[in-house]
Amino acid sequence: THFGFQTVSEEEKGEKVYQVFENVAKKYDLMNDSMSLGIHRLWKDILMHKMNPSPGTLLLDVAGGTGDIAFRFINYVRSIRERQLQRKLKHHQNLSWQEIADSYQEEAVKPLGDSQVVVCDINKEMLKVGRQKAQHLGYSEGLSWVVGNAEELPFDDNKFDVYTIAFGIRNVTHIDLALQEAYRVLKPGGRFLCLEFSQVNNPLLSRLYDLYSFQIIPVLGEIIAGDWKSYQYLVESIRRFPPQEEFKAMIEDAGFLKVDYQNLTSGIVAIHSGFKL
Ligand code: SAM
Repeated sequence: THFGFQTVSEEEKGEKVYQVFENVAKKYDLMNDSMSLGIHRLWKDILMHKMNPSPGTLLLDVAGGTGDIAFRFINYVRSIRERQLQRKLKHHQNLSWQEIADSYQEEAVKPLGDSQVVVCDINKEMLKVGRQKAQHLGYSEGLSWVVGNAEELPFDDNKFDVYTIAFGIRNVTHIDLALQEAYRVLKPGGRFLCLEFSQVNNPLLSRLYDLYSFQIIPVLGEIIAGDWKSYQYLVESIRRFPPQEEFKAMIEDAGFLKVDYQNLTSGIVAIHSGFKL
């Protein structure tokens, strides 16, 4: 391949992946939007609806990069809580002004209630961009950023309710180790959710997608980010990732139960889900 990935050692692969995301960090969001024509936003929204977090959820978003999943989680939880507050005020006309003021105050101080999200990524530059975005958007409560490797997570066992990894697992050197770590840090009853590029199941779309991936994406990478190689790596990493059924079996091998997947956009991406029971 362009990077000779088949011939480099595993350690070197990790370093190359680090360089790729270090190079693209500042332009990452712009490139995501232009390359997917904004569709990645929709896929991430669908992931969030599938998660449908209940109040008090503790989420770990691994390979969380610039925070897209974390910000969606925050918005989702906030909107649930706002709706709850509105319902409470609507159906309890007998509340005193003090009680109403207290409810608003609590909402302002703790907009996520007991819910929390931890973004973990191996790349400091990606996290730096994410932190800046969070600051700009005014998100701080219930949100933390941790540098860490998906293969060796810096968290205790049985800690999180949900583990997400979006467009991250294909970049990890040992996918099996990352899955074992996901299992370890989830509480019993916790859910694993992975959004990743997968295998297109429509022959016509598949041909168009190949053309787009190999001919257009690296060119866009060069034009927008001045970085052909990094985007060629992204395309190649997508092609090397195991198809839906094979990945499902890997998740089961890590110990997860009730594993299934949902194809989005004819399998361009898939959401795999599993439970630690
Ligand atoms: N989840 C974000 C999103 O959907 O926009 C970012 C996805 S980005 C394509 C892939 C991310 O995986 C990068 O931020 C990269 O640093 C991170 N990554 C690669 N290898 C990793 C590893 N072993 N452990 C944790 N993060 C890793």
